[in-house]
Amino acid sequence: MELKGALCYVLDFDDIYNYAHQTAAKIKESDFQPEVIVGIARGGWIHARIQCDLLGVKELFSVKIDHWGVTATKDGKAKLTCPLTGDVTGKKVLVVDDITDTGESLTMAVEHVKECGPAEVRSATLMHIAGSKFVPDFYGVEVTWAWEIFPWNFYEDLTALIKKIFEGEKVNELSTMEVKKHLREYNNVVLSDEQLSKIKAHMGYLEVIQYPLDKAWKLKE
Ligand code: ADP
Repeated sequence: MELKGALCYVLDFDDIYNYAHQTAAKIKESDFQPEVIVGIARGGWIHARIQCDLLGVKELFSVKIDHWGVTATKDGKAKLTCPLTGDVTGKKVLVVDDITDTGESLTMAVEHVKECGPAEVRSATLMHIAGSKFVPDFYGVEVTWAWEIFPWNFYEDLTALIKKIFEGEKVNELSTMEVKKHLREYNNVVLSDEQLSKIKAHMGYLEVIQYPLDKAWKLKE
């Protein structure tokens, strides 16, 4: 059945650790032993911290890359909004992100770190989308394009998807049953009642839907 929206996969922390172990195994088999890990904020932070543990690395720094207008326009350019937070002079550095899609953030982060005087720079992601312009040196799995809903972005992504459903259906009010049905039809996402009730509370907290919560999900005017 053709989806009305983007194909999405919901990942849990078992999936994340599975991919992180696959990535770490490839790094350990290689000739590269990082001394410093740089996590790209925000998406790469949790993976970066896990790689510190799996590879025995004590130095963890950050860079922040933002995409401007990425959801609204096609020319959402990547921008370095916070430079490298620590000294990597003479060090072997692993730059870590969650996924390579356009590859723009990783290209930019690696270039920036290379300008900071390291001995060597390599890159690692949990997932690599086939055809991405940037191929990380190490990644857990290669996948075809889908929107991967990482556990650290669950409420943000689901809020965005449900907002799109309201737009697509041209309504201001939906029942929980309808939200559940539309998520399946739009995005192939199947959620439990408990997950839906937590998302609803989150959307109320952010005032995307009316708060105090009603039985229905009512868009805030
Ligand atoms: P990269 O430089 O790693 O390819 P992009 O510049 O394409 O990343 O995207 C920036 C960030 O947006 C990613 O690190 C990730 O957090 C998020 N992102 C991009 N594409 C996807 C996707 N298909 N699924 C989930 N998250 C994504």
